[in-house]
Amino acid sequence: MNRTVIAEMTWKQAQERMKEARAVILPLGSLEQHGYHMSVNTDNIVGEYMGRVLAERTDSVVLPVVPYGQVWSAKDFPATISLRERTFIEVVKDIVTSLENKGVRNVILFSSHWGNTAPVKIAARELLDEKGYRNVYYLSYMDLKRLGEGIMETELWNGSGFHAGEIETSIVLHIKPESVDMEKAVCEYPKAPGDVDIRPIPWITFCESGIFGDATKATAEKGKKFLENWIDTLVGLIETNIC
Ligand SMILES: [Zn+2]
Repeated sequence: MNRTVIAEMTWKQAQERMKEARAVILPLGSLEQHGYHMSVNTDNIVGEYMGRVLAERTDSVVLPVVPYGQVWSAKDFPATISLRERTFIEVVKDIVTSLENKGVRNVILFSSHWGNTAPVKIAARELLDEKGYRNVYYLSYMDLKRLGEGIMETELWNGSGFHAGEIETSIVLHIKPESVDMEKAVCEYPKAPGDVDIRPIPWITFCESGIFGDATKATAEKGKKFLENWIDTLVGLIETNIC
């Protein structure tokens, strides 16, 4: 029997595993443009991989990735699908509420797409306020600079931004190289409009390729090292705080 992936279990197996597992992990991805060189499924590829590895490493179980997220910034690029923030919050809350009375000890909402992190936090707060759930946690990239220290060569965009550049491309080169076309990888650090942090500005108005960073510097080796740091950090957080 598969002890980790809920979608591959019967309901009887899931009933047993969900009770004994440390947590049920829900990966939250997106269908979003990732430059000229990676598929719009990138965040789902990363979410599925991370969800499974985290479940294996922490004696947890993982649900299928939610393939649509809040992608307002990139919504004007073709094949980018965005749920309204409120829709996304309600989807997350409905999934978590469906786990009620099944003996689940903890729920971990894992965002592999940065735009999901703000609404995910709201969903967890509302689940606490409305339902009294104290066991809903949210994880994502956490401290990106520290995770990539000594591994990534290029700067983050505008101090903290990243999208389809060195980090994400390296990750996917390691976990699913067939979905990356490095011949089409480019470097783009779009010039940020002066008011980018004080009003909503769609990316398509100032970014050509959809990339924020330098995808040409990505390698599978960097991706492997970054993932080791990232996984160790999240496993440490889970083992210390979620039991
Ligand atoms: Zn992404």
